[in-house]
This record gives sequence, C-alpha cells and structure tokens, in this order.
Amino acid sequence: MRYTGPVCRLCRREGQKLFLKGDRCYTDKCAITKRNFAPGQHGQSRKKVTEYGRQLREKQKVRRYYGISESQMFKYYNMADKMKGVTGEVLLRLLELRLDNVVYRMGFASSRAEARQLVVHGHFTLNGAKADIPSLLTSVGDVIQVKEKSRKSDKIKEVVENHNGNTVAWINIDLEQLKGTIVSEPAREDIDIPIEEHLIVELYSK
Ligand code: SF4
Repeated sequence: MRYTGPVCRLCRREGQKLFLKGDRCYTDKCAITKRNFAPGQHGQSRKKVTEYGRQLREKQKVRRYYGISESQMFKYYNMADKMKGVTGEVLLRLLELRLDNVVYRMGFASSRAEARQLVVHGHFTLNGAKADIPSLLTSVGDVIQVKEKSRKSDKIKEVVENHNGNTVAWINIDLEQLKGTIVSEPAREDIDIPIEEHLIVELYSK
C-alpha cells in the first residue's frame, strides 16, 4: 500500500530530507531542520544497523521518494532485472520515467505528490492523448503537455508564474506551450537523490 500519513515522519525515519512537501522543505519549518531524529518513543536511541537494515532502509527511502507501494517497487525491480545495464541504475531510471515524476521534473509541481494529483485530475496529455495514470512509463521522444482546458486552472497558472525555466537535462521544456519533451533517458548523474541503489538490488536478489 502507498503511505498516506504525515510525510515529515518519513524523512525523520530516514534521517534525511526526502523533499515530500514542496516549498516547505526549503524553509526552517522543515521537520528535519527542527528535529532530526526518528519519530516515536525510541527515536533518539542509537541502534546498531545490520547489513539487512541498511538494504531495507535504502529500499524504503526510494519508495518514499517516488511515493510507490511495496508491490510496485518489486515490479520495477523485476523489470529492471530483465533489462540490459546495471540493475540498480535501470531501476532508478524506470522510476524517473514515471509520468508523475516527469511532471515533477518538468517543474510543473512542487513535489511528486502534487504531480501525482495533477496527473490524476487529468491536467496533462501524453503525445496528445489523455494521460491520467501517474505510473505511466514515458520514453524518449514523448511529449507531456498541460491540457488546453487546464490552462485556466488556478493551480496551473500558479505553477507557470513560479516556474524559473529550469528543468533536468533530459527534458526540454517549452513554457509557452506548457510542454516538456523527453530528449534522452535520465543518466545516473541526472538523478539527484542520495541513494545507494546497489543495496536495494542486494536485498531483492537474496
Ligand atoms: Fe521532509 Fe519536506 Fe517535511 Fe522537511 S518539510 S521533513 S524535507 S517532507
């Protein structure tokens, strides 16, 4: 199941910022800035972390970054395992190519959760066709665009006003047309999350 509780708890559990709350994550109100220890009664006690514990935490971190369930995560691992390349890197690449993440990377949402919501509410098209499934996997050449009707929505107007024109190297952004084109697959160095993905592969391949 996908976690729907208070998200700052997840960052405190992992001991690092997962940037799940958009703009708030960059302010002093961030719970990691204020209370960087795990939630709960034993949150401040020090525990010895086993190898399995490290692998598990790394997997949980990735799940939380991308807001996906355990079964989805396992599905992506299986897909990555069958594909060419370093499995951990392929796994991250697949997650990056999810439609909700692409919308986030385009700078059209302040968090992946917000991007998911915008996608579910039908504000985007993929190559001109309706696309309201956050897990849709995009590929090179795909064009993701704000739907004509949605351009009048207050949320989309706000997104455009606050957009600084920056995006990731693998997506070309056109703010006039409110669209992004995937120009290449994301390379590992494009994926700016502090993850040791080989630990996840070790965990699943046991
Ligand atoms: Fe994590 Fe953002 Fe909450 Fe800080 S404000 S704890 S980075 S979700």
